[in-house]
Amino acid sequence: MNFINYYMPTKILLDEDVVLKNSNLFCTYGEKALIVTGKTSSIINGSLKDVTTALKKEGIAYDIFNNVEENPSLETVEAISKLGKLQKSNFIIGIGGGSPIDAAKAAGVLLNNPNATICDLFESPHLKSIPVVAVPTTAGTGTETTPYSIVTDNKLQTKHGICQRIFPEYALLDVKYLMFLPEKITINTSIDALSHLIEGYLSTNASILSDALAEKGLKLFGECLNMIKEKDFTHTIRKKLMVASTLAGMVIAQAGTSLPHGMGYALTYFHNIPHGKANGVLLKSYLEFCTNKSKVKKILYLLTLENLDELGYFLNSMFDDINNVRYEDICSYSDKMTLNNDKLKNHPSPVGRKDILNIYKNSLKL
Ligand code: NAP
Ligand code: FE
Repeated sequence: MNFINYYMPTKILLDEDVVLKNSNLFCTYGEKALIVTGKTSSIINGSLKDVTTALKKEGIAYDIFNNVEENPSLETVEAISKLGKLQKSNFIIGIGGGSPIDAAKAAGVLLNNPNATICDLFESPHLKSIPVVAVPTTAGTGTETTPYSIVTDNKLQTKHGICQRIFPEYALLDVKYLMFLPEKITINTSIDALSHLIEGYLSTNASILSDALAEKGLKLFGECLNMIKEKDFTHTIRKKLMVASTLAGMVIAQAGTSLPHGMGYALTYFHNIPHGKANGVLLKSYLEFCTNKSKVKKILYLLTLENLDELGYFLNSMFDDINNVRYEDICSYSDKMTLNNDKLKNHPSPVGRKDILNIYKNSLKL
């Protein structure tokens, strides 16, 4: 049995009206909250209203930063921390998809360490954040149960994780926020969760505990497969996807992600391909490359798929074609990926430039 090192301190509550029913938990974290969210979706799905109502009920003052873009930039993280410093915020509530919640985690580090700079987000791993509460409104990233914050670094022209580990204090899950998530975002984000389950399950760091979570998440995803194909997103399916995504977050919190995530970042940064789709298009070829055939077989079994071709058909049917990536591009991304030790070390066998290029080539039909 593998070495086991399991740590997941986030308290998870899933319920209808979970924020309103548990408003008292905010009192633990101070008198002033900073709400961090995206541009519009949290207004439309009611999550922002629930959080502000809960804070008002508890007599907690708040400020709102509602301008987090997809794949949040370091500039946005800095702007959030500027507002938090000005307003002397004691804790942060991240509402939205992975982008606002990740931005909240990174800004939380700067707020807790007023002299820290953006560089410290990548160089000073022991810095802590002010408390972060996560209210996810997509079912994909699992960031509500991971210690990661993925930011866009425009100087380095890539996305990468900050070096601190910031587990949210609470993950408050309410399926009602997902009910009007557009079809495309539902699909892209659910495939992100699938990638987490697969990459975490096959990771060098997988253990019997993370595998138990991954297997349950894959089984739940398998139960949703036909409805995803038919784009029939009922309350029951959305709830299963939400739980699968949170489980997937718990998996990568322990095991990390590997090649599809590392390789997908370039597709997102340079070609504007949404994060989940960027991983998803690489998954079939990645699994073909994996040498742990018994685990690959188990993944397919749990997903109720016969073979990798069937997984390929499923994924292809989910996404529009990608036409804006050239062969020269993937050569350059493969060069960069050979230097990405954080991701390469999580894949259990040696990976060369040729292997990476082949995964890109086969996936993008170049
Ligand atoms: P996102 O970038 O947070 O949001 C994508 C879009 O979905 C935005 O336009 C957003 O609108 C909209 N949206 C969010 N919730 C909605 C709802 N309930 N109804 C309608 N629209 C909604 O998407 P995401 O895929 O969840 O997050 C992706 C980010 O997470 C990437 O940066 C990725 O690298 C990161 N990530 C982090 C981890 C981790 O462990 N930390 C893991 C995987 C991925 P608004 O802008 O108006 O809100
Ligand atoms: Fe992801």
